[in-house]
Amino acid sequence: MGYGDVVPITPMGKIIAGIVMLTGYAIIAVPMGIVTTEMVLAMRSCDAGHETCKSCGKKGHDADAAYCKYCGEKFAGYVLPFISQKIS
Ligand SMILES: [Zn+2]
Repeated sequence: MGYGDVVPITPMGKIIAGIVMLTGYAIIAVPMGIVTTEMVLAMRSCDAGHETCKSCGKKGHDADAAYCKYCGEKFAGYVLPFISQKIS
């Protein structure tokens, strides 16, 4: 048995086969959009933030950094991404 050996014959069978085929495309297409969105968000989060460390005065930290990468000082006002919860 190979491709095209078994085909829907009745109109109802053809309709069901069409729905199943479109569902198969949707199963591929929907996660692709989600994965693409997450990749874009990840690439944006890699951009350097503009926060300047109050302790050592250095810049160039990640946009979502909670601590200075040079001296370890905690940044004030850091908000956890996607949770919107402020660290005390
Ligand atoms: Zn610092």
